Amino acid sequence: METRRNNRRQAKTKYILLDTGKCEACWKCIEACSNNVFGRVNLPWHKHALINNSDKCTGCSKCVNTCKFNAISKVSANN
Ligand code: SF4
Ligand code: SF4
Repeated sequence: METRRNNRRQAKTKYILLDTGKCEACWKCIEACSNNVFGRVNLPWHKHALINNSDKCTGCSKCVNTCKFNAISKVSANN
């Protein structure tokens, strides 16, 4: 849990923001995204989704609606 608290990295595409600190590594976003935007860090002591292909994100928001832990949010128009 300490490592998670210290890991404040946020990754984003043009359309969505992933807060890796909130990610519970359920991998639902990976299943939901048809464009292979997400990858995973899957070590025994450290697991979370990450953004591998930000350029491929179309902003469909499937991942935002899929994540039960509110780790993914829409980027506001001003960002
Ligand atoms: S759906 Fe949410 S909690 Fe699950 S892996 Fe993706 S970002 Fe993490
Ligand atoms: S908004 Fe759509 S295309 Fe972009 S990461 Fe989420 S599911 Fe994939």
